[in-house]
Amino acid sequence: MKRCLILLGMPGAGKDTQAASIARSFSALIIKTGDIARSLAEHDPEIAQTLAQGGLVNDELINTHVAEKVAQVPDNGMVVFDGFPRRLQQAQWLDTLLADNAQHIVVLYLDIAQQTALQRLLARKRADDREDVIRRRLEVFEQMTVPVLDYYRSTNRLVEINGEPSPEVIATEIHAKVSTWT
Ligand code: AMP
Repeated sequence: MKRCLILLGMPGAGKDTQAASIARSFSALIIKTGDIARSLAEHDPEIAQTLAQGGLVNDELINTHVAEKVAQVPDNGMVVFDGFPRRLQQAQWLDTLLADNAQHIVVLYLDIAQQTALQRLLARKRADDREDVIRRRLEVFEQMTVPVLDYYRSTNRLVEINGEPSPEVIATEIHAKVSTWT
């Protein structure tokens, strides 16, 4: 793989929308671990319960599925990670995986206020968008994913983008950044 974009942000930050827009413009493959987790949950009641409670699925399981998808990316292709890594251990594991096969890695953090996340998720109608589950997912972000942000920040790889404006404004900003990579 040639280029790798990691999208980080609270639930509701707009990762899905931006990943789709980048994938369209740059013919990138999206690796969305939320979709992986939801499809695993269909056949595994324990995983279904983890999702229903807003927790995180076991690292090894998620990492195995991520590795399988990464192996499908062509040599000069681009990949967008949506919702991964979510835990420090996953970030360190991903660094090892990508060390040999990604030339350009950029981490974009879509920054929104907790209040914005809450309002956006309450307006959406997914199974894990109940208020108590949303609050749990935001807590999990603070506890588990903020260390991931710190990890990328401390290695000078974190690009912070204001996630509060409209999706179009954010997409323009991201596209401008990604276009400079080639
Ligand atoms: P998402 O659609 O990205 O908000 O993810 C939905 C759910 O899938 C999360 O609340 C977690 O239970 C699970 N999940 C998604 N990505 C990960 C990950 N990287 N590690 C562990 N669990 C994950």
